Parts: sequence; C-alpha cells; structure tokens
Amino acid sequence: MSEDCLFCSIVSGDIPATIVHETDEVLAFRDLNPQAPTHVLVIPKAHYANAAELAEAEPSSAASLLTAAKEVAVLEGIAKSGYRLVFNTGKDGQQTVFHVHCHVLGGRAMVWPPG
Ligand code: 5GP
Ligand code: ZN
Repeated sequence: MSEDCLFCSIVSGDIPATIVHETDEVLAFRDLNPQAPTHVLVIPKAHYANAAELAEAEPSSAASLLTAAKEVAVLEGIAKSGYRLVFNTGKDGQQTVFHVHCHVLGGRAMVWPPG
C-alpha cells in the first residue's frame, strides 16, 4: 500500500471500480477511459511502480499477473479472437499511473505499430 496511489486506493476499496476478476494476489477492473470494447487493467494488490520493479522484486507475482490477464481474456470472450497485453513503462512508455498494471485490450482488431 502506497500513500496517494490511485490503484492502491482501488485495492483498498476507497475508490470504486468495476471488478471483473480477483485472486489473493491480483485485481482486474475496467479502465475508466476504455480504448477498445474490452479494456481491463490487471494489477498486483501489492504496490510496485512498474513491470520492471515487479519482475525484479516478485517474479511469482509477475507470473500471476499474466495468468490473471489470460483469465480475463477468457471471461471477456476474447481469448479466441485475440487481444493485446500492454505494460506502459516510464516516460516514453506514456505511463501515467505508477502502480504496475497490464492493459488487456480486445474486442476489435488492434493496429500495429501502436504509436
Ligand atoms: P497508463 O497510462 O499508466 O498505462 O494507464 C493508466 C490507465 O488508468 C489509463 O488507461 C486510465 O484510463 C486508467 N485510469 C485512470 N484513472 C482511473 C480510475 O480512477 N479508475 C479506473 N478504473 N481507471 C483509471
Ligand atoms: Zn499502488
């Protein structure tokens, strides 16, 4: 739990979110500003600033995050049609919330390169 962290406040229930999947370790909820028909954020409940910090400090949680992302794709009905997992990291990655989150995007064809 980190003070003044938006996603820690979602984990604690202080800020509401539409939760689609939850385990002891991770939480998945709908993005407030969806960029695709399915746009879900998957986060570890513990606070790490980005994917690199999570991978270094808690590799088993990083694995749980990917497992949860797969589960979200199944629950959202996009596992077969396909989807994109994104970890925006740091300034050039355009990260805006510094609690690691995996974007699960699907329900339409993605474009490449992502821009
Ligand atoms: P980033 O830009 O850091 O990769 O992604 C942050 C994401 O968090 C954005 O897609 C943004 O729409 C989403 N977001 C920002 N504030 C909130 C919020 O209060 N609730 C939810 N559910 N999503 C949020
Ligand atoms: Zn946090």
